[in-house]
Amino acid sequence: MRDVIGQRRLLDRLGDQAVRGDVAHAYELSGPRSIGKHTVAIRLAQTLNCDREPRVSGGCGACVACRKIERGLHPDVREVTRLVDSGTRDDRKNISIEQVRAMQQDLALRPLEGRTRVVIIDDAADLSEHAETALLKTLEEPPAHACLLLVTPTPSRLLDTIRSRVQPIPFRPVPRAEIEAALVARLGPDAARYAAAAAGKPGVAIRLAIDEAEREARRALEREFYTLVASRLTDRFAWAADLAESRTDTQKRSAQIETRLVEWGELLRDAAFVAAGAPERAVRPERAAESAKLAASTGGRELVDLAQAFERWRRDVVETTVSARMLLELLALRLPYRADLAAAA
Ligand SMILES: [Zn+2]
Repeated sequence: MRDVIGQRRLLDRLGDQAVRGDVAHAYELSGPRSIGKHTVAIRLAQTLNCDREPRVSGGCGACVACRKIERGLHPDVREVTRLVDSGTRDDRKNISIEQVRAMQQDLALRPLEGRTRVVIIDDAADLSEHAETALLKTLEEPPAHACLLLVTPTPSRLLDTIRSRVQPIPFRPVPRAEIEAALVARLGPDAARYAAAAAGKPGVAIRLAIDEAEREARRALEREFYTLVASRLTDRFAWAADLAESRTDTQKRSAQIETRLVEWGELLRDAAFVAAGAPERAVRPERAAESAKLAASTGGRELVDLAQAFERWRRDVVETTVSARMLLELLALRLPYRADLAAAA
């Protein structure tokens, strides 16, 4: 499928079906953040509505329909996401039932310019309970010209009755070599070094390769990690309280915590690889010195356990309503202590 990195076998089949117009009425695109779900949703919409003949998987990318879809301007392709509250300027907590009803009214009409009305709901786990129930109606009796794409990193948060009516498209981590080849083809040979950093998620590699702010954010999180490792418990608990009680909405806070668990889990895993005598497997070779220090004082077994704990906590954060404060305090307790890593921060 045009400009999509990875998931090749899955997308070849899906793309061929879309070219023939032989698609299900609803799909669930699931997998970690930055793995390509949203891009694939857009490409499916383009395949289904591209003006060019013969049709190609992913759409031609150049016709009026493809360009309108890319820019969010096509009347038959609608994205439903959490709205921004006009008062507080924060994102609303949920996708509301009103949003789903408006979408349904639209969906009942024949396509205006294309062949298929496509609705992309991202993140589908943000649907309010009422919105989800309303959506069921559409899934039970979908209009012939409709295709719904439910995009989410946490499909387990959707109602079973919804999930049983959509075709699953699970996205898997993309091999490093595949990301590297795509980066080089798109952005030149210098971009190759971000392939490892992506840890299977092409979107991460692309952002790192093109955006200095993204690279700085990554370094800032590394510094935060080493500061914590070099801190005593009182400071660690103060950090936990700050993050747990920050004034952003729950979803954003969960995302902040998730990012830390993912990125810090990588640092721990890198240190575990060093402890095991396999430093070449590190995804952050630029932190080799710090990984070596952690490995020397903490030991491989404990680092592996901890990296696994981080992954479990990550799942807890995204799939359930675990207490952020309790989880972060647990993290503060479990982190190894190494005073000389303050220098790395
Ligand atoms: Zn096109």
